[in-house]
Amino acid sequence: MKVFDAHCDLLSKLFENKTNNFLSDNDNLQVTLKSLQEGCVKVQTFAIYIPTNIHPSMRFEAALSQANLFFEKVIKEAGLKQVVTHEDIQKLEDNEIGAMLALEGCDCIDQDILKLQTLLRMGVRSVGLTWNFANLVADGAMEPRGAGLSLFGRGIIEVLNENKIWCDVSHLSDRGFWDVIELADFPIASHSNSRALTPHPRNVTDEQFKALVERKGVVGINFHTPFLTEKSNSQISDVIRHIEHFCELGGVEHIGIGSDFDGTEMLPMYLKNPSDFPNLVNELLKYYSESEVRGFMYDNFAKKLARTGL
Ligand SMILES: [Zn+2]
Repeated sequence: MKVFDAHCDLLSKLFENKTNNFLSDNDNLQVTLKSLQEGCVKVQTFAIYIPTNIHPSMRFEAALSQANLFFEKVIKEAGLKQVVTHEDIQKLEDNEIGAMLALEGCDCIDQDILKLQTLLRMGVRSVGLTWNFANLVADGAMEPRGAGLSLFGRGIIEVLNENKIWCDVSHLSDRGFWDVIELADFPIASHSNSRALTPHPRNVTDEQFKALVERKGVVGINFHTPFLTEKSNSQISDVIRHIEHFCELGGVEHIGIGSDFDGTEMLPMYLKNPSDFPNLVNELLKYYSESEVRGFMYDNFAKKLARTGL
């Protein structure tokens, strides 16, 4: 069964260590060409994420460097096809894998809309406003102040709406979340779980999930253990608990996958890299219809792109 994964951190892994090789199977990377092929991943989103230790004046350069790694390593060397529109996804041949660019946090654009527009012109199709902390756009989920969108942040939303870009609320403060729900045309949460099950600020509350459903958003289930359970280890059954909770809230068509592979080592047993996706599919098929599982694994995010009109 094919997979649409709305979040992985391969690019920052390649950026941090230039010897990491996407083309060869290795212990340093979870997301490799081989693991994507083995897991039947059809569309993988690749986030540009700038580590917090990069000096602010160097952050945009780092973003360009990660975009360059995407084009050099993922597209040119490995042969993945960049997808920007829903039509691009439909055009993928059976043996082809689509690759979508995303931005995780607007810290790298300072207060410069041109920098954002440059990234959008490179094909960034999903923009997270913050990582965990505050920036000029809004506060992140771990920022004690918990502020919502700044005036500049509201301008960013206008640019995203004009360009039909997904506004990703994963990592955003609660106040920021509700500002986005009010203003953004295409809100999603690329990699967050249920806060009712695991009380972590990175997860969404029931009210937030319902608001996303109302706005036709999709929430990608994150495999990072601390977002799945308060226990120290997680299982595939924990992933399914979060899916089931969102289904109970009426969200069966609003649940997707945002694995966070290469963003964490703390992963469920038997779900350690993309090649393990069939393990999740097989478990899901015990509880849900095939079309529902196809929805979680692929269709819900793919349809979201179609509905966005891209
Ligand atoms: Zn993240």
